Amino acid sequence: MTRTAGPAEPGPGPGAAPTRKTAPAEPAEPAELTKLADLLAAAHAVDTDPQVGLNAARRAEALALQLQRPTDHAHAAAAACTHLLRLGRLQPLLDDARRVLPLLVGEQHAAARCELLRCVAMAASDSGAFDIGLDAAHELVQTAQRTGDTDAAFIAVYAQAVCLERMGDSWQAVRLLTQALQSSPGERSSRAWLVAANAVCAINVGMAHRLRGTGAAAELQQALHNGRQYGLQAMQLLQSVADVAYEVAATGNLGEVLLLQGEPAAALPLLQRAQRLAQTHGLQAHHWRVQTTLADWRLATGDAAGALQAAEQLLADMGQTAPPQTAIRAHDSAYRASRAQGLHERALQHLEAAEQRERERATAQLRAQSLLFVTRTESQRARELAAQAHADALRHREQAAELAVAAERDPLTGLGNRRHLQRRCSELLPQMAAAGSALALALLDVDHFKRINDRHGHAVGDRVLVALAQILLDNTRAGDVIVRHGGEEFVVVLPGLAGEPAAEIFERLRQRVQQHPWADLCGAQGDITVSIGLTWAPPLDLLLLLQRADEALYSAKHQGRNRLALRGG
Ligand code: GH3
Ligand code: MG
Ligand code: MG
Repeated sequence: MTRTAGPAEPGPGPGAAPTRKTAPAEPAEPAELTKLADLLAAAHAVDTDPQVGLNAARRAEALALQLQRPTDHAHAAAAACTHLLRLGRLQPLLDDARRVLPLLVGEQHAAARCELLRCVAMAASDSGAFDIGLDAAHELVQTAQRTGDTDAAFIAVYAQAVCLERMGDSWQAVRLLTQALQSSPGERSSRAWLVAANAVCAINVGMAHRLRGTGAAAELQQALHNGRQYGLQAMQLLQSVADVAYEVAATGNLGEVLLLQGEPAAALPLLQRAQRLAQTHGLQAHHWRVQTTLADWRLATGDAAGALQAAEQLLADMGQTAPPQTAIRAHDSAYRASRAQGLHERALQHLEAAEQRERERATAQLRAQSLLFVTRTESQRARELAAQAHADALRHREQAAELAVAAERDPLTGLGNRRHLQRRCSELLPQMAAAGSALALALLDVDHFKRINDRHGHAVGDRVLVALAQILLDNTRAGDVIVRHGGEEFVVVLPGLAGEPAAEIFERLRQRVQQHPWADLCGAQGDITVSIGLTWAPPLDLLLLLQRADEALYSAKHQGRNRLALRGG
């Protein structure tokens, strides 16, 4: 076995579902390749500190370039993007991704491409480049669907939902995620569940912020209630999935929910823990985000001055690199904290700054909206078409089934017709042959039916035929075949019978016809009788049986009608 450095596995980090392969050491291989493999493994480690992971990825990139291994280079660069996302360094991530994405083409790179697209979707929508974010999410959905990986497909939907949430459409985001959560729940890994639960929690928090001050109190409470449920679920899942970025995110989100629900004492330990972890692991974006919530916490506990100072300090720290949503939240905190202290001019400045950011967000949203509109319309249209096609197929199948039944039915009596006899016998005869079973077939013909028509009219003749059909049905079993073979002629097939027992049944049938109260239909002289020609297998051949039954019928007519004649095998 040769040890190679690549192709590397896709990047881990939040959202990825990594299955890392590290080749076993083999001393015979050149030292550089061994080193590259180790660096790639370190770059792809899930539970590593993002700065450590990024360093490993950068060194792997450089070494792969030096060793002229383009695939390893692309995979190392993609892994770097995962860590850049965790660190909140969004612009370098987007620059790198633009360079790396064209290198990750082909099915063998599908997993790595998915992870990179996820990073792009997150980073772009976090930095307000919604069009790029949506585009990446859209491709991610398609790629994931193609690979058939349920976790990847789920994470793709999650990325789409995050884009929508960042664009301001928390409602659509929740709908998307809830739908995805409800489909094939058993097939998802704990990590994907964690991603989902945390996302639904975060989106509900976003929704709650949007609803604050709008008067939609009930909806706000519902959003917080949902956020809490999913936040608790995410915390539970963290016990089985080790990922510091998610630990920070989920802890911070739940803390924020509790604070917004008016439970600052319960929120504080969570927020402090999230802050500590974010700081220790260099998770810059998460750290800033928790800082805004901590400023809100001060305000909620009566320390408006401390809240204002914390929010302004944060805004100064973030500077130009502030993620738009965090900046909006920080200005909003500062605005509320200033107002609480009667610092109206300060409050106005922060309000204006928040609104300026909000306008920028809205403009970016509008720019992306056309793409979103196309995407939404397309997906809506595709869904409608699929539903339509499904309904059409069902209807066609039903129609075909109905037609098949209708084609075998005699419209007057509701019995089967010749076609039905042929189909049933084509199934029945081989079964009888295989089982070595007998089969009786009889032709029944109404005696002097022409006279009935002549005396009472065609309509009465029809009713006689219908009544006869009912007598046949009433005196046979479910597995027997009864058809109107034409005019006033019927065929009855009794599987499993032959000779005397069959003759007894048809003799009884003949008598039943004779005894029927025909006077109700045809008046005093309207007696109806039938002549019956009976035969049985072998041979198990419909044409031959019909021919013999016809001969027997002819002889019954010849002998004076209203009788049964046999033509045995
Ligand atoms: P036989 O005892 O020799 O069988 O005499 P028959 O009068 O029954 O025989 P024939 O074949 O001469 O006449 C059959 C008649 O059945 C002729 C036709 O008008 C009538 N008939 C065929 N189909 C229908 C139908 O659907 N409704 C009605 N009312 N009459 C039908
Ligand atoms: Mg006839
Ligand atoms: Mg007749």
